Amino acid sequence: MNHILEVRNLSKSFHGLRAVHEVNFDVSEGELLALIGPNGAGKSTCFNMLMGQLKPTAGEVYFQGENLVGKYPRDIWRKGIGRTFQITATYSSMTVVENVQMALMSFHRRIYSMLPYAHKMYKKEALTFLEMVGLASQAERHCAILAYGDLKRLELAIALCHNPTLLLMDEPTAGMAPTERESVMQLTADIVREKNISVLFTEHDMDVVFGHAHRILVLNRGELIANGSVDDIRNNPVVQEVYLGGGNLFESDKAAS
Ligand code: ADP
Ligand code: MG
Repeated sequence: MNHILEVRNLSKSFHGLRAVHEVNFDVSEGELLALIGPNGAGKSTCFNMLMGQLKPTAGEVYFQGENLVGKYPRDIWRKGIGRTFQITATYSSMTVVENVQMALMSFHRRIYSMLPYAHKMYKKEALTFLEMVGLASQAERHCAILAYGDLKRLELAIALCHNPTLLLMDEPTAGMAPTERESVMQLTADIVREKNISVLFTEHDMDVVFGHAHRILVLNRGELIANGSVDDIRNNPVVQEVYLGGGNLFESDKAAS
């Protein structure tokens, strides 16, 4: 299978603390790859390096064969890597559809020259993206009054606006009720399958991870300690130990959430 992303010896130290240490992995075309690990394991630091927000201390990140290290986040985004954030980032004073229009305008580089006409631009296209994530009926509502799960759907619509080939999702279901988590993750899985988008996502909820990931990476104290299928990871004694001191990964996560 073709690799869309190749991560080689990726490392980041903060004042001597090895937040990410010599991490190696690939993302295949169309793959839903989960990056899991306890708090502080280095997941967000990894994401920030892939997206250009943080410069690695060492290592390379190849996207479709091209090394991204040293490139600006905006340039990486233009190459086709989209991102959603652990903390939702939308404009709360605008309506749902305006948020998507802004993203489309930004992608088409029309944001400054066209502001006075913004309410008309790309509206039809924006509505198609809202339809895709099940938010069409909320298009004219202000983001400030949107339910949290709907904000996450909106974030997904915004990330899809520039037709990414790879999506990086840092805790896409954080803060949601379990049934909503499942429905947002199922929606994401359906959309990326249809559009053949690869996804690298971090997630705390093991039901979501085991239910949707094609493969799982486990990070602990900055080091990749496992890389395998759902069954491999579920039964991996080292992973069990890291998460729960030897208990069952599945059961403990349920008890903790
Ligand atoms: P995760 O997302 O897996 O919870 P992070 O990548 O946020 O983990 O953090 C990994 C480690 O790096 C933690 O020990 C954290 O305190 C540290 N860290 C993250 N960002 C910074 C920073 N900007 N400066 C100093 N230390 C940081
Ligand atoms: Mg994090």
